Amino acid sequence: MQVPPFSLNEQLSQIGQDLDTAVAKTLRSGQYIGGQQVELFEKSFSETINVPYTVSCNSGTDALVLALRALDIGPGDEVISVSFSFFATAEAISNVGAKPIFIDVNSNDFLINPNLIEDAITSSTKAILPVHLFGNPVNMDAIMSIAKKHGLKVIEDCAQAAGSYWKGKSLGSIGDIGCFSFFPTKNLGAAGDGGAVTTKSLELARRMRDLSIHGMPKRYFHTELGYNSRLDALQAAVLNVKLPLLSSWVEQRRKIALNYIKNLKDLSGIELPKDSSVNGTINSWNQFVIKVKNYDINKDSLREEFIAIPNQIRTYLPDSRCRDLLRQNLSDKGINTIIYYPIPIHLQPAYSQLKGKSHSLINSELLCSQVLSLPIFPELSIEKQDYVVQSIKDLINCQ
Ligand SMILES: *Cc1c(COP(=O)(O)O)cnc(C)c1O
Repeated sequence: MQVPPFSLNEQLSQIGQDLDTAVAKTLRSGQYIGGQQVELFEKSFSETINVPYTVSCNSGTDALVLALRALDIGPGDEVISVSFSFFATAEAISNVGAKPIFIDVNSNDFLINPNLIEDAITSSTKAILPVHLFGNPVNMDAIMSIAKKHGLKVIEDCAQAAGSYWKGKSLGSIGDIGCFSFFPTKNLGAAGDGGAVTTKSLELARRMRDLSIHGMPKRYFHTELGYNSRLDALQAAVLNVKLPLLSSWVEQRRKIALNYIKNLKDLSGIELPKDSSVNGTINSWNQFVIKVKNYDINKDSLREEFIAIPNQIRTYLPDSRCRDLLRQNLSDKGINTIIYYPIPIHLQPAYSQLKGKSHSLINSELLCSQVLSLPIFPELSIEKQDYVVQSIKDLINCQ
């Protein structure tokens, strides 16, 4: 049996016809930039997130950049965030001229540890940028109270968390600005790149809109340097077909996660994520990430292609061979897994100028050596889930 980490095939056979119709209609409309589909999407997305304003843009990365710029964050400013995330989180901060200040994540839920934030605040700190990694909500009560106490802004990186809630509130509706990605593998995926920012502030929404169109509030009148970052009408048409299905997809992801948790618990050497869904808090399970802590390692059998951490980085990180070997053995059984993420951002060559991290990132570094994402997508069949479960059990039990 072959199990991919992610697949659109089943989804396309279910809604492919609707997508064809929507795309054809938009193509025939001749309205490719802005227009009805984009307006409809922004309105529907605002309703989904429960905010008054959505500004669509070209990607999740651009969403972060627009948010930072709209909050006047730039050279000389510091933004507190995490190193255990996709590179774009920090890249956006650096690309507006500000400095990312990395603090550590919790080892159990992979999320920013709010207890470490206050120690990292300086007179240059402007914002906290929590990442709702893998769809799991950060403790927003803690973040908002620290932000309030110190007069900081909060930008939520919701790229992996469309459909997630914190105590009944959609992620992206709690901080000053929420940033979403519609990259095809996210919970709500376009047929290409796409993104959006959400906010309760009319002023911020206007500023982000202007910035996304060359800093141009009126035609050919430019008040500041901006970007060319819009959501294509064709992408909006695709998203308009998919958005009504988001909550049912999240429900499916949740079922799969609970099935994995139920059937893989008590296996020695691996640790499972916990289901944090209580009292209106919902994890949308963009990824199901286990930690491989111990797996019988036969060094010689680990093949080059499965060594996740490049040579020059390996000396800075804990040994990842247990995880890499389990991944290889699963692959040999037809089960393809992904590592989000093998290298923490602060150890990426692109950030070598940040030498001498000021805060301990020990959990971030350890996680990079242990994490493994099992296949999860709404249409993953129960047979394939069972095959993943049985294969992991067999591999762990016959070490
Ligand atoms: C995907 C992702 C982004 C960037 O989104 P793009 O649409 O790919 O630019 C930012 N942050 C996180 C956590 C992501 O997973």
